[in-house]
Amino acid sequence: MTRRRRLDLSSALARGEFVPYFQPLVDLRTGQLRGCEVLARWVHPTKGLVLPDDFIPFSEETGLIGALCESVLSQAFKTCAELGAPFTLSVNISPIQFRDCSLPERISRLAEEHQFPLGQLKIEITESALLENLVDAQCIAAKLKLLGMKLSLDDFGTGYSSLAHLQALPFDELKIDKSFVSSMCCRRESMKIVAAVVGLGRSLGLTTVGEGVEEVAQADMLRHLGCEVGQGWLYGRPMPKEALTAMLGVERPA
Ligand code: C2E
Ligand code: CA
Ligand code: CA
Ligand code: CA
Repeated sequence: MTRRRRLDLSSALARGEFVPYFQPLVDLRTGQLRGCEVLARWVHPTKGLVLPDDFIPFSEETGLIGALCESVLSQAFKTCAELGAPFTLSVNISPIQFRDCSLPERISRLAEEHQFPLGQLKIEITESALLENLVDAQCIAAKLKLLGMKLSLDDFGTGYSSLAHLQALPFDELKIDKSFVSSMCCRRESMKIVAAVVGLGRSLGLTTVGEGVEEVAQADMLRHLGCEVGQGWLYGRPMPKEALTAMLGVERPA
């Protein structure tokens, strides 16, 4: 079963069935596009569009995650190059990959191939990436920063010992988990937590991003609390490159 699935996954990878989808990140005050998060999708020949929760854990177990991520990332770089307007891309790096000290060089080589400026690349990690081996993680993070990349702490508030990690790594951004954002308008506690996290982020000089913004009321409250950036269905669902191209109003070369 496991061997079969591994084979399925690696042949899907070889056939180029894993593609990047792009979800906008928006300035909460001006409404302007700040960048996009790259989210992997499996365009399955019979099942249709398969979501990451159905293939990321398994590709981590089987060691295919590195190759999958690099395939998706290189397609995302290619799309940006085609669009001629390289905006900031945020990419998810799994905890498994964040143990590999060659990660920074590999990403930077990939970006170079597509002439994507590393200063416009943001690496999103969750705290589980930091739990196992903080020393390796610090080394990798330092290399990423030295190469010009930005570092973002994803799903903030859901992990373990968040505050210690904020101190241990040179983060540029903090993403407030959507569980807080989705309940902040109906639960006073959630709102208070978001307010405190935004305050913490600001005092540390980090950009704060509210995830999972679905309603205008949530966007209003985030803005009111001083959160700078929003991401969620209110601004756009993850979309394939054709939809991104249309959204940006870029003319395709004939
Ligand atoms: P994440 O990094 O926290 O990504 C945000 C997730 O929230 C995405 O789910 C996105 O589609 C969803 N989302 C965005 N806005 C809203 C909203 O307004 N409401 C709701 N209900 N959901 C919203 P998705 O695309 O299914 O990805 C799930 C997770 O899979 C990601 O969570 C990330 O941890 C992982 N993932 C996705 N792509 C990659 C990848 O290329 N590499 C790695 N290592 N992990 C990935
Ligand atoms: Ca993310
Ligand atoms: Ca997240
Ligand atoms: Ca997540």
